[in-house]
Amino acid sequence: MDNIIEGISEFQDKVFPGQQAMYQRLVRDGQQPKALIIACADSRVSPEHITQAGPGELFVCRNAGNIVPPFSTGTGGVSSAIEYAVVALGVRDVVVCGHSDCGAMKGLMSPEALARMPNVAAWLRHSHAAERIVCEAYPADMDPKERHRALALENVIVQLANLRTHPSVAAGLAKGQLRLHGWFFEIETGTLLAYDGEAGRFLPLDALDSAGDFPVAQGSAVRMAAPEYAPPQAAA
Ligand SMILES: [Zn+2]
Repeated sequence: MDNIIEGISEFQDKVFPGQQAMYQRLVRDGQQPKALIIACADSRVSPEHITQAGPGELFVCRNAGNIVPPFSTGTGGVSSAIEYAVVALGVRDVVVCGHSDCGAMKGLMSPEALARMPNVAAWLRHSHAAERIVCEAYPADMDPKERHRALALENVIVQLANLRTHPSVAAGLAKGQLRLHGWFFEIETGTLLAYDGEAGRFLPLDALDSAGDFPVAQGSAVRMAAPEYAPPQAAA
């Protein structure tokens, strides 16, 4: 705890004085983050650090396994954060960010290790689709490390699908006001992979040229009023 308290002192004595005007502006004008990032609670995966974002730039929601419970499973912190970010703050981008060496994904692979963590075990049911995909659609003789990585990548895609079940997200996509992104942070190399929804694969961001389009898991397309729809005929 000593390091943490020292950090607070350093922030208050050396950092905050130089940033006070910025913090005051963020209170006066309110926050206007451009993106919501749903990331793992893992201490090595800090969205603000990875993106070098400052205060006010990212709306962040972190939990074990960067999980998005599908809508309708009851009220919850993740659902509330999504709704607030999309409806009240009007973020234009929502990111689900997974990572290498994820403990939650290890738990998914070895449920017996979760015997004393019933809440974690129950929470991870929102990732069972990813576990099934890797078990049934990937080669059975995969190296355990490769299997773990595949599971973490598939989990990002499964959570993006869960994200679309939230009415605020579905409406934002249909209005052309929202884009969804799937990221994977490789802790040991610092590489960030982004899911290209059209190609159906993850691409390293450093492989893009500076003007390259950032891969998007799902772009938004303005939905036209359904042309096939005809109002029911009034009863004669
Ligand atoms: Zn994790």
